[in-house]
Amino acid sequence: MNRPDVSIVIPVFNEAQNLRALAARLALAVDACDVSYEAIFVDDGSSDESLEILRDLCAEERRFRALSLSRNFGKEVAIVAGLDATLGGAVVIMDADLQHPPEVIPLFIEKWREGYKNVYGERIDRATDPKLRAAFTHVFYRLLEDFGDVRLPPGAGDFRLLDRQAVDALLSMRERARFNKGLFAWIGFKSIGVPFDVEDRAGGTSKFNFVRLARFALDGLMSFSSIPLKVWTYVGLAISAFAIAMAGYYWARTMVFGVDTPGFPTLVVSIAFFSGVQLISLGVLGEYVARIFNEVKGRPLYLVAEKLGENDVTNAKAG
Ligand code: UDP
Ligand code: MG
Repeated sequence: MNRPDVSIVIPVFNEAQNLRALAARLALAVDACDVSYEAIFVDDGSSDESLEILRDLCAEERRFRALSLSRNFGKEVAIVAGLDATLGGAVVIMDADLQHPPEVIPLFIEKWREGYKNVYGERIDRATDPKLRAAFTHVFYRLLEDFGDVRLPPGAGDFRLLDRQAVDALLSMRERARFNKGLFAWIGFKSIGVPFDVEDRAGGTSKFNFVRLARFALDGLMSFSSIPLKVWTYVGLAISAFAIAMAGYYWARTMVFGVDTPGFPTLVVSIAFFSGVQLISLGVLGEYVARIFNEVKGRPLYLVAEKLGENDVTNAKAG
């Protein structure tokens, strides 16, 4: 089999407006380096003309290949599908919307040649994101940093180059609720950041709405920390301490002033409050149990509907 030096994995979900521009800029940027390469587009169940455009692109350019997943599996899984299909000695992962400038890839390759196995793009500017999203992102990363198991380099995203060794390490983890950013950091290897300017999305809109981002953040927190489980210990302790103080207060008051009102409000408030706390902690346990159930089912991470391009490689690998 003919192995390129570098494979480029690009998840694609309704990016018809951007694919041609991306292909042109990508080819131009990588041709400037002295490497052989292949680009693997993963169509993540797009409902626009993305797949037709990929078909054309793969027919025009023999270094392009594409996989079409059987439905939308989400970006994290689409990346895995792409990684599974790579043959290169290094793999670059990038978005299809041109927010990750292809011109940075030569810099990645340079670092790779210097011996780095995990070269990540460090976004200089998050100003392309809406304010509210940026604020939530900040809180999320603070939480992960303070309580999580992995150290995420600030500004690092999915745009990166991984050496074959790092890719194989990543692919040995078939967990379903995937949070790639955490996994990239978890595998370690000699790492370095390469700063780049995030560009505005070329065409179309972000595929991540608030609910999707919240799910994603939850996946991250649940996969890389046990805060959601542990936080209840502290909440419980605080509430109990408060309840003891309250008991002391009422006892003292009764001793001094005798019984006055029957204390109906206190009762209602505390019952409602504690029921709430119990339901929330049950919900947290439920989230974890659901995740365990999901992993235990051992379904394949994704299914490939069609493969486009020269070399007919991989199939969906089961977990
Ligand atoms: N994407 C995907 N599957 C999805 C959602 C997004 O493959 O379900 C791809 C999308 O086509 C793009 C990349 O993931 O190449 C990043 O998506 P987007 O630009 O919408 O995210 P943002 O830049 O807003 O984080
Ligand atoms: Mg984007």
